[in-house]
Amino acid sequence: MIARTKSEQLFGEALRYLPGGVNSPVRAFRAVGGQPFFVDRAEGCRLHDVDGNTYIDYVGTWGPAILGHAYPGIIQAVQRAAELGTSFGVPNPLEVTMARLITELVPSIQKVRLCNSGTEACMSAIRLARGFTGRDKFIKFDGCYHGHADCLLVKAGSGALTFGHPDSAGVPQAFSQHTLVLPYNDPEAVRATFAANPGQIAAIILEPVPGNAGLYLPQPGYLEFLRQITREHGAVLIFDEVMTGFRLSPGGYQQLCGVVPDLTCLGKIIGGGLPVGAFGGRADIMDMLAPLGPVYQAGTLSGNPLAMAAGIAALDALRQGDAYRKLEALGAQLQEGLTAAAHEAGKTVCFNRCGSMFCGYFTPGPVFNLGDAMKSDRQLFARYFHGMLEAGVYLAPSQFEAGFISAAHTPADIETTVRAAARVLKSI
Ligand SMILES: *Cc1c(COP(=O)(O)O)cnc(C)c1O
Repeated sequence: MIARTKSEQLFGEALRYLPGGVNSPVRAFRAVGGQPFFVDRAEGCRLHDVDGNTYIDYVGTWGPAILGHAYPGIIQAVQRAAELGTSFGVPNPLEVTMARLITELVPSIQKVRLCNSGTEACMSAIRLARGFTGRDKFIKFDGCYHGHADCLLVKAGSGALTFGHPDSAGVPQAFSQHTLVLPYNDPEAVRATFAANPGQIAAIILEPVPGNAGLYLPQPGYLEFLRQITREHGAVLIFDEVMTGFRLSPGGYQQLCGVVPDLTCLGKIIGGGLPVGAFGGRADIMDMLAPLGPVYQAGTLSGNPLAMAAGIAALDALRQGDAYRKLEALGAQLQEGLTAAAHEAGKTVCFNRCGSMFCGYFTPGPVFNLGDAMKSDRQLFARYFHGMLEAGVYLAPSQFEAGFISAAHTPADIETTVRAAARVLKSI
């Protein structure tokens, strides 16, 4: 066992002051057991903990670190911006640069509003869709995560067409009763829900590639179907690309699949590691926002100059480099290596991947929705996770999270990871 004495001390102290010792639940390692380690610093694809251990990182701060940690262009941009002031509360030029960049890179976004997190982006997009259509209900899919706003914190209830039941205590039933939760990749469920709620559905919100229950892909024609049916019923199609935006291509997953949503939510990568969210889309919908229209949305720190500077540096680097070609090659190498390692160890694994996002489920698969994902052997995953951590590879501490490769990973890092996995898979 590698020593984590300082991490253990810090976590002991953290437990006294922070509920569960953390500021975001999945960091607490509850899904895999054990205790989190504390990071001292990170660079490239490596995390260094406070005890001097080093890990190859496949969490990438849950997605933002696509260029690797402490990317020099981002660090310089933040340093320069900080010297000019950390927040103004009046418009600053970087907001315009960022908005122009986003609208250039994602053509479906004609206008954009910047906010501070993916949660804010999704919450505001739903409010905007409701304000635009004058309707209350909306469809979300089980297993898709859109942040922790009350009306979005709902998974499938007892039946696909019944009212939503909140996942969390503290959410009044009334706040989630307009949330219609359906299984992903099931066109019939969507058709039936529109038929049962004529003229009442404001929007469909979805992750075009769901990455919050592990990772699975839309089946061929599914996103096209959602585009078609929302258009027919005058509902707003919202792609939550907080995770996939700039992860899978410079124009988001929508650029790859060719389906044009009405609104798009962004976050994670567009902040370059600082807190940012954004939502944008059709100008006629976006112009419903205050101060032009009646849908209220605001933020003291929205468009924050440090976050804008970091995000602009990240998007510039992604736009100019050949990061996506490299990420695809690394992803393919990892997929091939891990699949072979699992086979050799006699373990049944369904390995899903889209570019630099991946998830290995301990189930034969295929995995196309939450129900399929739940068949994975989570105890086996927990043993795999801890084996990999001991071997110096940090995977997300839950079966139901996507892994992320960064442009700072090298083929040698992937090879090291695959060799570790081959040993660990045989031992668990
Ligand atoms: C992470 C995530 C969010 C929430 O973003 P936060 O910045 O954590 O609030 C929303 N939607 C998707 C798809 C995400 O992956």
